[in-house]
Order: sequence, then C-alpha cells, then structure tokens
Amino acid sequence: MGKKGKCTYCRKFSDNLTVDHVFAGSWYPANTPQTVQRWTVRACFKCNNELSDVEEYLFLRLSRQLNPQNPLFQDLIVRAHRAVDPSAATDPKDRIARQKKLDQLNADVVQMTGVDPKKTFPSLNQPASSVGLRFSKAMSDRFQEKVVRGASLKLYNRVIDPPAGIRLYNVHASDVVGDAAFLDARLSSWEIGEGFEVAHGQAADDDQVLIFRITIWGVYRFYALVAPQGFEDQPDE
Ligand SMILES: [Zn+2]
Repeated sequence: MGKKGKCTYCRKFSDNLTVDHVFAGSWYPANTPQTVQRWTVRACFKCNNELSDVEEYLFLRLSRQLNPQNPLFQDLIVRAHRAVDPSAATDPKDRIARQKKLDQLNADVVQMTGVDPKKTFPSLNQPASSVGLRFSKAMSDRFQEKVVRGASLKLYNRVIDPPAGIRLYNVHASDVVGDAAFLDARLSSWEIGEGFEVAHGQAADDDQVLIFRITIWGVYRFYALVAPQGFEDQPDE
C-alpha cells in the first residue's frame, strides 16, 4: 500500500500515493552515473498515469530533435523509434497502438526549411535537420507545470498550493538575451550531464518568488516563475 497524503501535482488527497519520477527514469542519458539521485515525488495514481502519457508524447517528438551523432542520445533515439514501429509489436493490439502513434507523429512533421525558428515550438536551437515535430502546447504546459512542481519541492522544499501560482514562459533564446543574462547571473544550477539542467534562484526583490530555467537534452527550454500570491494578469505572448 502506498502512503496517504496530498499529490505533489494536483494537490488532492490520495490514500494510495505512488512514487513518480520528476524527469522520467527513461529520459536520463546513457552516461548518467548510477549514483545520481533521480528526483522522485509522491503523486496520485491519476496524475502518475496521465503524466506518463504526456511524457511519452513529448519523448517521441523531442527525441527527433536530438543529434543522432551524439552517442549519449543514441539509446533514447533508438527507443523512440522502436516505440512507434509496428513491426516491433508483441501482439495485434500493440501493433495497432504503435501504428496509431506513428500516424500521429507523421501528421505532426513540419518542414523547417525557410521557417523562422522563432515561430517554431520548441525553439531553443536550430533544428538538427530540416524536419521538425510540432507538438501540443497543452501537453507541453502540463509537462512543464509538473517539472516546476517537482523542482520547487526538491530544491526549495515548497509545494505549490493556492493562492501560489506558476507562470510558464516559452520564449526563443534570442528573445531573452537581455533579461536572461540578468536572471541567469543569479541562478544556481542543478544538472545531470547533457540530460537536464534546472537553473534556479529567488527573485532579487522578493525571495518568495522562485525563478526556474529548465533545459532538457539541450533542445527544449522553458522559464517559469512561482509566486506565493499567484499572478493577477496573464503573460504577454
Ligand atoms: Zn494528482
């Protein structure tokens, strides 16, 4: 039986909390030392389950942005291709599921040639190839919020309950040069090799406000603020 308590993510009470990886266990690059502590938090079964689907969705798309020449990522890339390969299916039902994922992926392919990289998403780097994978902002937001909740708990021992709020920023690197340089100067960093980097700090004028800049595999980056009283207005998009 799991522990009783509140889920880190949805903050609802559960009498059977599961252990959830903040960054999916399978997302750590091959060279991650075994001694590295993988962040885990308590989560309800529903969140754990739903977030697994969100992570698979992102994994299939982000892995296509990785450089296949980098040996650290080869295992991730092979696994992502296998997950949508109908010929690797173990039974007819599995085959249909893989085919469906492959069809969805193919529908999300966008040609990057001639596209303004600022108008693509995610948009941290120039894509490694002329092909990009579009993905849903709702899925991305759900994932980002999860990671911010996990990081806030692991690094600051802070759960995020109302009225506290999270604001997510997805901006192209070239648009945040000024602000980012200013923010980055105050950020400390938790990182796992070329896997994940969580740069974090407290706002200079209010130490209750947390700042995060989270980068995954060097291809997907977002910024987030956590404020104890939430945010009254919406961010400019
Ligand atoms: Zn939950």
